[in-house]
Amino acid sequence: MARLFTAIDFSADVRAQLETIIPPGSKSVRPIRSENLHLTLHFLGEADESTVVEALSGVEQAEFSIVLSGCGTFSGREGKILWIGVEKSRALQVLHADLGERLSAAGFALEKRPYSPHITVARTRRPGDNPVVEQFLNSAQTLPPQFVSVSAVQLYRSQLTSRGSRYELVASFPLQ
Ligand code: ATP
Ligand code: MG
Repeated sequence: MARLFTAIDFSADVRAQLETIIPPGSKSVRPIRSENLHLTLHFLGEADESTVVEALSGVEQAEFSIVLSGCGTFSGREGKILWIGVEKSRALQVLHADLGERLSAAGFALEKRPYSPHITVARTRRPGDNPVVEQFLNSAQTLPPQFVSVSAVQLYRSQLTSRGSRYELVASFPLQ
């Protein structure tokens, strides 16, 4: 068993662009490391790797592109999530739904909430006001839209370590 999730990966170019607006680490902010930036599709939690790999094999959708743009925050119990948005995309919704069907057919319980694609780029470490949030929103609004070509779905294993989470690629499922 491993902590698994499916995601879309970014090129070095897109990561570099995102990095320009990610706040630096501090007592109150925890940025996502460049190599960990991704767009989550489905979070599986503890699951058997080979069952998931089998369920996802044979994804048939054609390649497509998404556009990263916009920004916002979600408030959690521990603090705020700072995110970059994704333009509405039918192909992304279809891919998400197709993977979801494959995973539920294999017996995995998935989130019932509608999919709201976003890229977490930092988290504040405690609830309440933080001037970094305002600064982030201001600079993220100036980020030009980033085109991401989606040619595969990645399955990652997340290892929670004392120095943050580390993602390891389990398998890659190419689109057509
Ligand atoms: P950390 O937990 O160290 O802050 P992380 O959130 O990136 O790092 P994981 O918790 O392993 O690492 O999560 C992996 C991915 O799955 C992330 O995109 C995360 O947002 C998403 N995720 C984690 N838990 C859930 C959940 N309960 N529901 C939906 N998505 C989740
Ligand atoms: Mg987490």
